[in-house]
Amino acid sequence: MILFLNKDAQMNEIENLRDRLRFMGFETTIGIEEDHKVIAITHGVDSSVCVELFKDLPLVEKVTPFDDNFKLVGKNIRKSKSVININGIEIGKDEFIVMAGPCSIESREQIFSIAKEVSKDGATILRGGAFKPRTSPYDFQGLGEQGLQFLRDAADAFGLLCVSEVMSTDDVAMVEKYVDILQLGARNMQNYSLLKAVGKARKPVLLKRGLSATYKEFLSAAEYIISSGNPNVILCERGIRTFETYSRNTLDIAAVPILRELTHLPIIIDPSHGVGLRNAVPPMANAAIAVQADGVIVEVHTTPDKSISDAAQTISTTAFSEMMSTLRKIGMVLGMHVKEAQV
Ligand code: PEP
Ligand code: MN
Repeated sequence: MILFLNKDAQMNEIENLRDRLRFMGFETTIGIEEDHKVIAITHGVDSSVCVELFKDLPLVEKVTPFDDNFKLVGKNIRKSKSVININGIEIGKDEFIVMAGPCSIESREQIFSIAKEVSKDGATILRGGAFKPRTSPYDFQGLGEQGLQFLRDAADAFGLLCVSEVMSTDDVAMVEKYVDILQLGARNMQNYSLLKAVGKARKPVLLKRGLSATYKEFLSAAEYIISSGNPNVILCERGIRTFETYSRNTLDIAAVPILRELTHLPIIIDPSHGVGLRNAVPPMANAAIAVQADGVIVEVHTTPDKSISDAAQTISTTAFSEMMSTLRKIGMVLGMHVKEAQV
């Protein structure tokens, strides 16, 4: 149910109304855009609750039921794109954000040398996994908390933000201490306990699309996070499983314009996992800016062939540098500035 409020409603009056709704057994969230103020009732409405119940409440001008399950990710309460501001880096605005770094954090030296290169070429967010979801239990599982410390130190040394994956509900609070963005990986997109746990975190969440998730399932996963209390979700298309086996995944570039119609959340592309083949990564990053994604997350290494994980899809720092200059050119044509690190 969405309650459209009187234009002149003041914040304290809105909070009083929310208290009253809470007393009536409903959980709410507010949406405010310019002159348009609404309260969305997210929990407690079932078939026994009708529009009439809310019509005569103070401040309420109009009541409409939600038309789908996307109460918070959809455009019911927010029409314009949401912008996630992390220390001045605005994701979802009109700048293209580049996140770059190795698949896994391998050592302090490795992450520092990669951070140095990618920041020089304009990345603003350093990526690197410390908890790795590996297909085989015998593969490198990541450096854990020590890796996160290396990532944080390297990001700070080069004026970058950082993002890393959290795989377990037990680790959310710890990972959150080190990173600026919590990554929720493709394999965990339907791990509902983890979605709720990152929903209670204070840091923004980079939510990867599941390997076989439909758009609706992807958006429902984001809805879990937001309805648990965290509005700052960045969607990431990272390729899906199709009948094609030559490439690791099939990057669904159409996800960007299609999801744009359905949600106000920022959308980025991961061309590395999206294709799995190094040479295809820069062209797919070009495609990402061309379809007006809000950014990319790319695997980069100073010695890509020696990457402990995902070597085949990891590009060199030289290839990254060339990719960045092409992105700037495409961005110029489209009026989309590629955000540069302030080093
Ligand atoms: C990653 O980004 O390191 C990763 C494991 O990605 P995904 O969850 O998309 O496979
Ligand atoms: Mn990887």
